[in-house]
Order: sequence, then structure tokens, then C-alpha cells
Amino acid sequence: MQYAENILETIGNTPLVKLNKLTKDLPCLVLAKYETFNPGNSVKDRMAVKMIEDAEAQGLLKPGGTIIEGTSGNTGMGLALAAIVKGYKCIFVLSDKQSKEKMDILRAVGAEVIVCPTDVEPTDPRSYYSVSKRLGEETPNSWYVNQYDNLSNTKAHYESTGPEIWKQTGGKITNFVVGVGTGGTISGVGKYLKEQNPDIKIWGIDTYGSVFKKYHETGIFDENEIYPYVTEGIGEDILPKNVNFDIIDGFEKVTDKDAAVYTQLLAKEEGMFLGNSAGAAIKGLLQLKDHFTKDDVVVVLFHDHGSRYVGKMFNNEWMKKMGYID
Ligand code: PMP
Repeated sequence: MQYAENILETIGNTPLVKLNKLTKDLPCLVLAKYETFNPGNSVKDRMAVKMIEDAEAQGLLKPGGTIIEGTSGNTGMGLALAAIVKGYKCIFVLSDKQSKEKMDILRAVGAEVIVCPTDVEPTDPRSYYSVSKRLGEETPNSWYVNQYDNLSNTKAHYESTGPEIWKQTGGKITNFVVGVGTGGTISGVGKYLKEQNPDIKIWGIDTYGSVFKKYHETGIFDENEIYPYVTEGIGEDILPKNVNFDIIDGFEKVTDKDAAVYTQLLAKEEGMFLGNSAGAAIKGLLQLKDHFTKDDVVVVLFHDHGSRYVGKMFNNEWMKKMGYID
């Protein structure tokens, strides 16, 4: 018999899939690291389990404890699955711009969900950063995960996602393209790949309304770069400890409209029903095309599943209302 001991054992070893149509004008091979094959339908299962295991080992998370996190949904899903298997409770704090599907899904796997306003400063007591931090301090036997600054997040990708991509490409990868939120994925994968071959280029995909690109290029944290945006999962108005700017060769910004349109195109042209940050990542990769030659092997990582966006990027009424389609 061949079976996993529990659902957590099925995390990782996701496929690498060639893109065929959207990339037809590029000279190079483009491969997608397809993370929706994880049991929580996103790459974040990997870091959720790693952060919990490291917290257990450090005595920060004890039997019967409560896991508290400010999460845009996918990390919450990974944490919730691990909490069920390992016997913990979960409280998640989300901002009100996150899709309703994400909130319903987290409640479906037993988590308590608290919704906070998006349009307040991170330091405002109502912000989701502040509320999750306060709950962490006030709830007995609790552990505040802090995926932004918890370096077990990066480590998960250094230990699993990075080595998988290296092995699956037979060491032929030349460029890695990925959306950046907490920075765990790009920093862990990027560090591992550069240790194998320092010539591999690491590209971060950012949003308009986020500080990353300007900070990377100038070293200036420019508050004028910060304004509300629609794209989900990537871009930040803070500098998380998990973003290792030194291993990133460049950032490319993608508009909300392009990210939404390309999320639809991935489904229609490639049969890849994926989340909004996948649309941003593939559009960003296409914008970077002048950096690629025929010998390149470009890997783009797709973070999460389309089912979480059926009320938005896969709803043409919403797309029209936003002015993204006619
Ligand atoms: N896309 C989606 C859908 C996400 O949930 C996240 C995590 N916020 C990212 C991209 C960015 O990944 P990371 O946090 O590892 O930078």
C-alpha cells in the first residue's frame, strides 16, 4: 500500500509545467512551478508547516495552544490544515479587501476570522498588523506567527521549493520570476538557486502602490509609493524581514488591470485556473522579455488557485465595473 500518514505529508513536490501560448513570442522555455497542487491549494502550505515546526521546537507553541496570524488567506489555510492535524486552535485577522471566498474557506477549516479595514496606517490600532499583534499578546497560550518577519518562512522555501526547482530543471534554470508579498518565496528559492549557480537571475513582481521596487533601486522607503491597490497577495507598504533585497536582481511592477486580465488569460489560454498573483507574475515575466534569450530556462512560480477569485477576476461583471474589460 502507498499512502500518506496525514494530509501534511502531501505538501510539496509540485509539478513544473511548460507554458505554450501566452509565452509564444518569447525566445526561451518558460516553466511554471505549479503550487496549487499543495493540499491547501497554495505554496503557503510549505512555510505554514515549517513555521509551526520551528515554533514547537523553540517552545513557542505548546500543546493545545492558539495560533494567531494576520493573513491574506493562503497562509491561514496552511496553518489551519497543520493545526487540525496537530491539535491547535487558529485565529486569523484579514483585511477587508480580501475576497469573501478566502474568508469562507478559512472558516470552513475551523478558524476564527476577524476582518479589519485596509485603508488605515499599519500603526493604526484598527489595522490588521496591529490587531493580530494585540491578540497575540492578550490570548493565553497563544503564538503570534508573524509571517512577515518570521524567517522560518524563507527557510521553508530554501529547504523545499528551491531544491525542487533546481532538481526538476536539471540545474538548467537561468531565471526565476515570482510575486513578492512577505518575501519568503523569493528569498528562500533565490538564495538556494544562487548558491547552486550565482548567474541565475532572480526577478520579483511588485504592484503599483507597493514600496519594494523603489526601495530596491534607491534604498529609499518612499511613502509616496504607497496607495490602495487591487492585486491580491503581492506588494507591501512595509519592508518585511523575509525580503532579502540582496539576492533580488530586479523588480517589475504590474498594473491591477493587467494582473486581472492575465489571470483570466492563464485560464483561457493555458488551462491554468490560478489566483490573481499568477496573472501578475506571468504579465511581469512578459514585460521582462528583453532580458531573455533562446538559451534561457525561465521558471515562474504560481502561488494559488483560481477558486478563491471567482467573485472578482473570474467575474466579468466585476471586471467591467473595475474598467478592466469592455
Ligand atoms: N501570491 C499569493 C496569492 C499570496 O498569498 C502570497 C503571499 N502573501 C504571495 C503571492 C507572495 O508570496 P510571499 O509572501 O512568499 O512573498
